[in-house]
Amino acid sequence: MANKKINKKNIAELLSDWSKQFTVFVPSRENGTTTIARWDGKDTGFLDWNRNTAVPPKAAFLPPMEEMFSFKKDMQKVNIELPPADDQKRLIFAVRPCDAKAMAILDKTFKDSYEDPYYLSKRKNTVLVGLGCINPYDSCFCTSVGSSPTNSADVDLMLIDIGDQFLVEGVTDQGKELVKMTGQLEEATEADETRAKDARDTAQGKVTKQLDTKDIDQKLLASFEDQDLWKEIAAKCVSCGICTFLCPTCYCFDINDELIKDQGTRFRNWDTCSFPVYTKMPMENPRKEKWRRVRNKVCHKYEFYPTLFDIIACTGCGRCIRRCPVNWDITRALERIPAKAQS
Ligand code: SF4
Ligand code: SF4
Repeated sequence: MANKKINKKNIAELLSDWSKQFTVFVPSRENGTTTIARWDGKDTGFLDWNRNTAVPPKAAFLPPMEEMFSFKKDMQKVNIELPPADDQKRLIFAVRPCDAKAMAILDKTFKDSYEDPYYLSKRKNTVLVGLGCINPYDSCFCTSVGSSPTNSADVDLMLIDIGDQFLVEGVTDQGKELVKMTGQLEEATEADETRAKDARDTAQGKVTKQLDTKDIDQKLLASFEDQDLWKEIAAKCVSCGICTFLCPTCYCFDINDELIKDQGTRFRNWDTCSFPVYTKMPMENPRKEKWRRVRNKVCHKYEFYPTLFDIIACTGCGRCIRRCPVNWDITRALERIPAKAQS
């Protein structure tokens, strides 16, 4: 299918049109931060942001707090009531390639290893419309982990900024179908394709932060027991958890019951391996020391996930670097891992 294009001035009209069949979500500013939220029916100011939101789109699939079920006890048994099925058709607009890749990474855990009904009910009903980055942050390093600022591999439909227009590429069957059904799109010309190629090349060149990820899982395995190294790497971390809460591929959650007399609700909420109490169990806490928790965070992304799923669980989005209050940088940490274990 040949690519299409749309004038930026027509994006509100496009979203209005899509709102007839989908609940449309867009990058949005809420409570002093940027996140993905339901489109208000008019604002397209997010098109000028050029970069990803502080809170990643994972929150639309794995919310910070989510009801799992409610329950009521009687003398004989516990009656469980599930929340109404979330089967709304959703479209998330302007998802950055790194954040779309994060969804594919989360699928490994929530779809392929174990079918998580809460996650999957949202995931299977959601169309991802990607928007390439033309002005990445200095802290972005997507090109070091197998992606690029305009990579369309993990979206249904991709938009590339070509000046006053976007080039529109249908990627999946669902995306191509959506292109066919969307009246506002015009045929892209050869000159538009050339502009898109230039935009891709320019954006790629703007990602200057680099990390050598060759054999990184093997290097981490070899250095796993080097306590001195990990103590040095972890030294300035204050265990605030911001990096993991905002990481698009972190997914740990805790489960809590809110109970009033004989009835209650079970919730799950984001948790993080950065917190000292995270692995606390009745008999022991295997990650009492901070260096063990930092090691777990790094190895989960760059050693355990590659071993289990053959993919690095980091998209190079750079949020953990930008948002850390003490400037802890995962790329600097990984650069310190030697090729062979220290003897
Ligand atoms: S944001 Fe920084 S200080 Fe906070 S847990 Fe992450 S690395 Fe540590
Ligand atoms: S570890 Fe950091 S750079 Fe990698 S995906 Fe998570 S937040 Fe982004």
